[in-house]
Amino acid sequence: MIKLKVNRRQNALQIDLAAEAASQRKNRLARRLLWLNLGFYLILSTAELTIGYWTQAAALLADGQNNLTGIFATVLLLVGLWYAQKPRDNFHLEGHCNMRP
Ligand SMILES: [Zn+2]
Repeated sequence: MIKLKVNRRQNALQIDLAAEAASQRKNRLARRLLWLNLGFYLILSTAELTIGYWTQAAALLADGQNNLTGIFATVLLLVGLWYAQKPRDNFHLEGHCNMRP
């Protein structure tokens, strides 16, 4: 009976570790894609703002400014994912990827 309980606890621990590893892989992939997204936004926004400034094209200036909000949102997502991948500690027993009110 005691051996069965120990086996169940070990199985639960292995499942937890596998789920945590899968979660960290997804987090890493999401952060890579966000960095790529950030790079494209920076290039596009800089080009549109520069060309819009030279040519006084209102549409390019407006879209370049609109892309700045995309850059801001991407940075917020990167900060959130960075925080979510931190390991568990005394205050966050289930890790930092779960937010509960
Ligand atoms: Zn913490």
